[in-house]
Amino acid sequence: MNAKQREEFKKLLLALHAELTEKAPAKIEPNRTDDARIGGDEDEQPLNEMMQAIASNRNRNSDGVLARVIKALGKLRDDPDAYGECEECGDEIPLGRLRAMPYAELCVTCQGGKDNPKGRHTRRKLTDYT
Ligand SMILES: [Zn+2]
Repeated sequence: MNAKQREEFKKLLLALHAELTEKAPAKIEPNRTDDARIGGDEDEQPLNEMMQAIASNRNRNSDGVLARVIKALGKLRDDPDAYGECEECGDEIPLGRLRAMPYAELCVTCQGGKDNPKGRHTRRKLTDYT
C-alpha cells in the first residue's frame, strides 16, 4: 500500500468515524440492502456506495465497528506500514476488502476462521473481495 492509498483509507475511516459518532439514523438507499456486493477491484467507488456501506455497517454492529475504526486510524497514524496487513498472518488485505471495510484487521482467510462457522450471515461473501 502506498501513501496515496493510505490517505484514501484514512478519509474513508474518518468518514466512518463521523457517521458512527453521529446520532442521526442510518440512511440506506433502496438500491442496496447489504454490502455483500460492495467491493471488488474497481479503482473507484461512487461516494454514495461507500456511504451505504457505512450505513449498513453501522446498522450491523455500530459499537464494534467504531472501536475498530478508531483502532485503524490509530494504526495509520502510529504505524502506517502495518495498516492494511492482516494482524494474524501479516498478508496484505486486498484493497477491495479494505474499501468495503477500511477497519478490517484480518485477511479473508483469517477472518473466516474467526467468524461463525455456521455461516448464517452473508459474511462468507467477503471472499468475493479477494
Ligand atoms: Zn491473515
